[in-house]
Amino acid sequence: MKTIQALRGTRDILPDETPLWQWVETTARDLLQRAAYREIRPPMFEQTQLFERGIGEATDVVGKEMYTFEDRGGRSLTLRPEITAGLVRAVNEHKLTAQGSVLRLWHVGPAFRYERPQAGRQRQFHQLDVELLGSRDPRADVEVIAIATTLLQTLGLKSLTMDLNSVGNGDDRQRYRDALVDFLTPHKADLDVDSQNRLTTNPLRILDSKDTKTQEIVQAAPSLLDFLSPDSQQHFDQVQQYLTDLGIAYNLNPRLVRGLDYYTHTAFEIQSADLGAQATVCGGGRYDGLIAQLGGADTPAIGWAIGLERLTLLLKQLAVEPSTAMDVYIVSRGEATAGKALQVAQALRQAGLAVEMDLSGSAFGKQFKRADRSGAVLCVILGEAEAEQGTVQLKWLTSGEQSEVSQTSLTQAADELVQKVRQAQQAT
Ligand code: ATP
Ligand code: MG
Repeated sequence: MKTIQALRGTRDILPDETPLWQWVETTARDLLQRAAYREIRPPMFEQTQLFERGIGEATDVVGKEMYTFEDRGGRSLTLRPEITAGLVRAVNEHKLTAQGSVLRLWHVGPAFRYERPQAGRQRQFHQLDVELLGSRDPRADVEVIAIATTLLQTLGLKSLTMDLNSVGNGDDRQRYRDALVDFLTPHKADLDVDSQNRLTTNPLRILDSKDTKTQEIVQAAPSLLDFLSPDSQQHFDQVQQYLTDLGIAYNLNPRLVRGLDYYTHTAFEIQSADLGAQATVCGGGRYDGLIAQLGGADTPAIGWAIGLERLTLLLKQLAVEPSTAMDVYIVSRGEATAGKALQVAQALRQAGLAVEMDLSGSAFGKQFKRADRSGAVLCVILGEAEAEQGTVQLKWLTSGEQSEVSQTSLTQAADELVQKVRQAQQAT
């Protein structure tokens, strides 16, 4: 019979890879907790309407990429293509932002987009999402940006660059939109087909078209930054000043847009030169209009999402490998030893050690080889003779030193053993 395989665009994250994912997640969680962000866990599917209203029908995500289906009750549902819309829905539904209060949230989990799979682009992928709601202060923009850059640096990533732009407020953008359409209309025939359509639906998006000819034309287009009102300009100046004060480097890129009406002011993307075509690891921006657009109170907000497949791809290239080594490996052979090995494993785990017990029953030589591979510094050996005498052999794999102790003293003085294990690990 033919075996069933995973769907195109989905991937199993295998046991060899999960330590890297766990390390990324733990590092992010620690950092976010130290910055007063709290975790939220919204569902993975929502009413289709939420994304149509929250992301916008003129976007690729809603127009071409959503996994939308009818459930058995005839409702139109969609697997979330990103996290922000569902998170804002939850915030509104549970009234998590009171007048004037600041809410800092994060979430990590899968998102789904019907895209052409390639390196760094999947149909089920994972995002780490960070949002700060309730503040218009430019320091809020810089806080969330700094969290992203600190996280990426803490994980050891290099050769990252950040593009920064301001898309102004709604009025600024309307004036710019008119100027852009005036500029592009005479070139319409030379634009790619998507961009021709966007000329009426979502002209700002033409700025980040991947088509070479369109890119050439757009080079000469008016700059968004020349259309900022004094207030928008002031906000953007302050963001840049604070970034500079924190030593966070950026490139001004007036063609970086979040093309929807509720996006305002700051937009940014962090890229890696090591990622090839899918260079963007992190994308974010301010969305002061979204919460009201989804029926909540008028609440400003800013946030970002990091694509974890792209991030882990980069970390693998850097050969970053978090340790999965065991502390202790238990080797045993013979019927009389079986229960004792279990007891030792149990006691040492309760004392806080990482313990692997060999279950193979194979010759001692083979078990010792596996002990070496496990990364353990200590091997606990139980043979028939030891089982009979109520003892175990302790063999330090770091020094080769070996001694015999009684099983009761081992389990009763487990704390002492933990200290010795840590010392041996530090010495290597
Ligand atoms: P791209 O320009 O690469 O298509 P996007 O603008 O669609 O990205 P966002 O909606 O801003 O991406 O999502 C934030 C991040 O999520 C991206 O920067 C990327 O790292 C990641 N991401 C987006 N789509 C995918 C996907 N299909 N597979 C893997 N990661 C993705
Ligand atoms: Mg995309």
